[in-house]
Amino acid sequence: MTTVKFVKAPTLKEKPDVSKIGFGTHFTDHMFEMTYTTGKGWHDPQIIPYNNISISPANATIHYGQAIFEGMKAFRQGNKVVIFRPLDHLKRLNNSARILDIPPVDIELVHNALRQLITIEKDWVPNKRGQSLYIRPFIYADDGFLGVSVGKSYKMYIILSPVAAYYAHGFAPVNIMVEDTYVRATKGGLGEAKTPANYAASLHAGLVAHQKGYDQTLWLDGVERKYIEEVGSMNILFKINGEIVTPELDGSILSGITRRTVLQVAKEWGYPVSERRISIDEIKDAYKKGVLEEVFGSGTAAVISPVGVLGYKGEDMVINDNQIGPFAQKMFDYVTGVQCGAEKDTHNFTEFVTEV
Ligand SMILES: *Cc1c(COP(=O)(O)O)cnc(C)c1O
Repeated sequence: MTTVKFVKAPTLKEKPDVSKIGFGTHFTDHMFEMTYTTGKGWHDPQIIPYNNISISPANATIHYGQAIFEGMKAFRQGNKVVIFRPLDHLKRLNNSARILDIPPVDIELVHNALRQLITIEKDWVPNKRGQSLYIRPFIYADDGFLGVSVGKSYKMYIILSPVAAYYAHGFAPVNIMVEDTYVRATKGGLGEAKTPANYAASLHAGLVAHQKGYDQTLWLDGVERKYIEEVGSMNILFKINGEIVTPELDGSILSGITRRTVLQVAKEWGYPVSERRISIDEIKDAYKKGVLEEVFGSGTAAVISPVGVLGYKGEDMVINDNQIGPFAQKMFDYVTGVQCGAEKDTHNFTEFVTEV
């Protein structure tokens, strides 16, 4: 097995009060780094002090965006540290790599390096329910060359950031605007990859939605602007007449790990579950008939994000009286319970890393 070198930081930072820091503002003392060179493959995996990285002003990623990332979380369960579904996240990293022509990583090596990094930084994993250590692996083309081409050299990093509870002010519904002007991704494009381009494509629409009083945008398909896709960084699920319905994975949306978790658990709880094309007209219809019972997003950051208002072409559908639906609440309690150890993890969603 390739060994991962460890260079210890000369001084360690003071740990912040996690309840006051929100998301992605503080980083731990160390990070994982690995380099790819054509002819040599991925080499020199190492854990080094967290620091700025140096790139050429002609860096291919800055100019042309050949980059991918992941987002997962580590949690405290009493005196134990666990990671939620790490191998599923690393497999998806390699799927994103395939789509952007980035050389795949050795999952076993990266998995072991991640475990080692988390073990080194175990004291950074917050111990209050809802708080976590966010794990951000990313890979980018490192060539200093302005020609448009697939990169010849890459860097991979994993950085860690302690994050406050997503619902610091309580689990609450959000307002979502169905976007019918702008599009984010189309089939055959990058929608199935976790890549910065999808976020770049969403920023302006997000700003416009904010100005109109909505928290996030729900994308429709890029061809007909008729079929539901996903929210910026969450998949979307509906409860219609007792059934849990979500858009099928058709190549233009991300295969969310939280989506997968919710669908699996919902089936086990006995709910009918369906992954299929859903048009916005079907949603409007269900709303008019009074059978649109719940709408909620799923993603690593929030786990479950109940939707209270769904705005489309200037009209608001108020879902479940703008209250958290019973299914969303039950699923949120269950998944966050598994993560913090309050719920028995019968699926082995969490992976034990180390004791603190
Ligand atoms: C990360 C992400 C999600 C959520 O995926 P999870 O694996 O559940 O965190 C959904 N959509 C997009 C576009 C994303 O980048």
